[in-house]
Amino acid sequence: MTIVRPDAEGYRRAVEVLRAESVVAFPTETVYGLGANAFSEKAVGEIYRLKNRPSWNPLIVHVANVEAARELAESWPVEANELAAQFWPGPLTLVLPRARHLAGVGASNNTIAVRIPDHEVALRLLEESGLALAAPSANRSEGISPTTAEHVLRSLPDVPLVLDGGPASWGIESTVIDVTGGRPRLLRPGAIPLRELRDVAGPVTLPDDGPSDGDARPSPGMSRRHYAPRATLTLVEDVRAADRDESVGVLTYETAGVEGAEILSADPREYAADLYAALHRLDDAGVTTILVQEPPRSEDWLAVRDRLGRAAAK
Ligand code: AMP
Ligand code: MG
Repeated sequence: MTIVRPDAEGYRRAVEVLRAESVVAFPTETVYGLGANAFSEKAVGEIYRLKNRPSWNPLIVHVANVEAARELAESWPVEANELAAQFWPGPLTLVLPRARHLAGVGASNNTIAVRIPDHEVALRLLEESGLALAAPSANRSEGISPTTAEHVLRSLPDVPLVLDGGPASWGIESTVIDVTGGRPRLLRPGAIPLRELRDVAGPVTLPDDGPSDGDARPSPGMSRRHYAPRATLTLVEDVRAADRDESVGVLTYETAGVEGAEILSADPREYAADLYAALHRLDDAGVTTILVQEPPRSEDWLAVRDRLGRAAAK
């Protein structure tokens, strides 16, 4: 694998690899993506192979502008218009009816997920390649998402090229919302908070099996394992009360009373921005267990709680 700077030579090489139907990892404002020509079966197949991603898990298509997004959709609902105007470029993915002339991207159904990333490097790559890029997070399936080029290198050493754009600013995946019909449905909580979506699109339906307005998931067994470190991750009410030795790492957002802990911000957006990097550090430190202080149950913490719940799932 080669990590390259996003200069003229870097883009030239990246475009060459993409046109040859291979894959390039690139920075976005959420996490690093593993990009491929969305409409090359061969290139998309490489994403699934390298990530060991299950074939039923569809991919998000990244485009440079709204016109390109509209070309992928069979119809363009009014909510899509309003959400795109408010949040694009940005960390919101819209699931739309897929244009009939297009093949499915990975999992085949009659929808397509699309967004415009808010990152200079991602946008320039889209423009210079002239392609729509399917891009999931650039990590092995189920693992922690990469927020730096270095994380990509460690998780996917066989990826031919990584454009290095420094650390991702949001550090958590996009919010995914289905606007294919009826009331918009939240498919994945993420960077954009629910409250901001409601302000634009009105009431939003939450996933049946998902957390309801910031509540904990009814049972960890209902969560699919995802976003997980190598160490076993356990959510606890009070990390201070836990028995610990050197095999146990601790992640908290409270500043008092936990020696040797990774301490993140008590602000959910800042917490999310540092979460994956902290999990990577704890894994690198070789701990076998990570105790995570349960975040608050308010809606602002929905995306963080979703990721931690899935990371803790067996
Ligand atoms: P990832 O690529 O790992 O960030 O995950 C992409 C996520 O986007 C999937 O797990 C789905 O939640 C969602 N998604 C992508 N495409 C579709 C689609 N066509 N229909 C519904 N959800 C989708
Ligand atoms: Mg992912």
